[in-house]
Amino acid sequence: KFSYAHRLGFGSGNPTGKIPLGLKRKGLRIVVTGGAGFVGSHLVDRLIARGDSVIVVDNFFTGRKENVMHHFGNPNFELIRHDVVEPLLLEVDQIYHLACPASPTNVVGTLNMLGLAKRVGARFLLTSTSEVYGDPLQHPQKETYWGNVNPIGVRSCYDEGKRTAETLTMDYHRGAGVEVRIARIFNTYGPRMCIDDGRVVSNFVAQALRKEPLTVYGDGKQTRSFQYVSDLVEGLMRLMEGEHVGPFNLGNPGEFTMLELAEVVQETIDPNAKIEFRPNTEDDPHKRKPDISRAKELLGWQPKVSLRKGLPLMVSDFRQRIFGDHKVGST
Ligand code: NAD
Ligand code: UDP
Ligand code: UDP
Repeated sequence: KFSYAHRLGFGSGNPTGKIPLGLKRKGLRIVVTGGAGFVGSHLVDRLIARGDSVIVVDNFFTGRKENVMHHFGNPNFELIRHDVVEPLLLEVDQIYHLACPASPTNVVGTLNMLGLAKRVGARFLLTSTSEVYGDPLQHPQKETYWGNVNPIGVRSCYDEGKRTAETLTMDYHRGAGVEVRIARIFNTYGPRMCIDDGRVVSNFVAQALRKEPLTVYGDGKQTRSFQYVSDLVEGLMRLMEGEHVGPFNLGNPGEFTMLELAEVVQETIDPNAKIEFRPNTEDDPHKRKPDISRAKELLGWQPKVSLRKGLPLMVSDFRQRIFGDHKVGST
């Protein structure tokens, strides 16, 4: 079996796999599962720009070929239509595991990618979620908090799936010596987000553009913290290249109620947009805000893009996709 350090050509004298100063880093072979999705496609852009070879594994469950089409024809880019629930044989240095339907197959896919990492000595990064904290009783949430998840609730398939994925990841780390990294991602938005995924930012933006009322669930006083996608991708790459397993919260500490978010959307798109209240979904977390001290200290990372700066970038993309408007950049 290979170790990650061997893979990178530094032998066992360098168990961290960190590249010695002064040595030029050779291009890596990196697999991104879910790389045709929203976050994955932005990550792929950065990895390709850095000079690495990227293999995207995606079954297009929620992802789209359009998100990565601009790399077709690049010899450093490969796209495989594959469901990670099925075993996969590849030779790679790093695995960014983003593929995730909200269902138990999440766990099987993670197991397979960990098996792959173990076999070839690749470093494995899991994109977990703030949902592992459930409806948190601690605010803001630190990585040391174990969470408050209803195991039989309507959201539990996703929450518990990710919690199990974290468990598997740590077991492969402790039991098989796989180099792993865990990111707990907080609500993220940006261009290429699925237009009809039902998430609050995509709903509000699409509704305001279509001159439909913004649907606020419940009393709209529940909070979330919204992170722009480029900040997340920077955090994921720092985590993968760094020396710490985590878990790390990756999110923007700026906290908004859903009514405040609706106001920002009104300011950005249409001050006359109406608000319509709807019943809230079951088990909806009341508040969520990351404590990012750990990522700041150990990864030297913090978000740079505020909601008011990031939202217009997403709006141009949505406008173009909804209306086929070619004035890119106009908001
Ligand atoms: P997304 O739905 O845009 O991307 C997921 C991708 O995985 C899609 O391209 C989909 O087709 C693919 N996929 C799903 N099941 C698959 C399977 N079995 N085999 C192969 N491919 C499969 O979602 P995203 O927002 O880009 O999320 C990426 C990751 O980040 C996910 O693991 C998600 O749980 C995590 N995350 C995202 C957020 C967020 O706010 N966007 C927050 C927390 C965690
Ligand atoms: N696996 C994979 N690609 C590989 C190696 C393993 O998809 O290159 C899958 C394998 O099919 C299994 C899972 O990963 O379902 C876990 O593999 P591991 O070797 O850890 O477990 P085992 O097969 O020994 O139970
Ligand atoms: N929400 C809302 N209107 C919508 C969609 C969602 O008010 O059209 C609320 C939802 O009830 C939740 C918050 O926005 O309180 C965030 O929901 P989302 O699904 O985007 O993220 P998550 O709940 O997974 O953090």
